[in-house]
Amino acid sequence: MLDAAALRGRLNGVRDRIARAADRSGRDPASVRLIAVSKTFPIEFIRAAADSGQTEFGENKVQEGLGKIQQTLSLLSLRWHLIGHLQHNKARKAATAFHIIHSIDSASLLQKVDEAAAAAGRPVEVLIQVDLAREPTKHGAPADAVPAIVELAASCRAVRLTGLMTLPPAADDPADARPHFAALRDLRDRLVAGGAEPLMLAELSMGMSHDFEVAVEEGATMVRVGSAIFGDRGAM
Ligand SMILES: *Cc1c(COP(=O)(O)O)cnc(C)c1O
Repeated sequence: MLDAAALRGRLNGVRDRIARAADRSGRDPASVRLIAVSKTFPIEFIRAAADSGQTEFGENKVQEGLGKIQQTLSLLSLRWHLIGHLQHNKARKAATAFHIIHSIDSASLLQKVDEAAAAAGRPVEVLIQVDLAREPTKHGAPADAVPAIVELAASCRAVRLTGLMTLPPAADDPADARPHFAALRDLRDRLVAGGAEPLMLAELSMGMSHDFEVAVEEGATMVRVGSAIFGDRGAM
C-alpha cells in the first residue's frame, strides 16, 4: 500500500542525509545525484516520488524498466537508469528506452549498445561497472579490463561514456564498503592521470540505502537508493 506522505518524508530524509554527508566532506551537495531505485515497486510509487520532485529513477531489469518507462511517458522530465546486469541480447531494447546504462562490463557489450543507440538515433549515456572485489557471482569488468573499454568508448558514435559504477559485496557495516568506494575513485584518478579524457570519467555511481553516506564521503556523484525511499521490497 502506498502512503504518499511517508514516501515523501523518506525521500526528503535521504536528500538531507546526502547533503550532510557532502557538507562533512567539503563537497557541494549539488554534485551528488539521487537515483531512486524503484525495482519491484508499482507505478503509483514512482508517481508519488515524481510529485515530490524526484526525476531520476533506476531499474535493474530491462523488461520491468521498459514497462515503467512506457507507463510514465507523460511525466516528461523523468530520466531512467538501468543499474542491473545487461545481457547482450537485451542491449538493443535497453538502448531504445533507458537514458543511462550503469552496467557496461565488456567492450563487446559497449559496442552492441552503441550500434543499437545509433540505429535508434538516440544518444545513450553509459558507465562501466567495475568488479573490484572479484566475487564469482558478481558482474562487472575487472579493473585491468577497464582501460580498453574506455579506449573503445572514445570512438563510439551514439554512446557517451561518463564514468564508473561499482557494487561492493553485501556487508552489515557500511564502513566495510568504504575501501571499495575509495578504490573506484582511485581507479578513476589513475585512468585520468594516464591520459583518459576526464569528462568520460566524471561520474562515480556508488552507494545504496545502507551505505550511501559513506559513498558520498568517498566521492560518489550518483547514489542508487531503493528501500530507504520506497520501503522494504520484501513487504511488497
Ligand atoms: C537494488 C539495487 C540498488 C538499491 O538497493 P537498496 O538497498 O534498496 O537501496 C542499488 N544498486 C543496484 C545495482 C541494485 O540492484
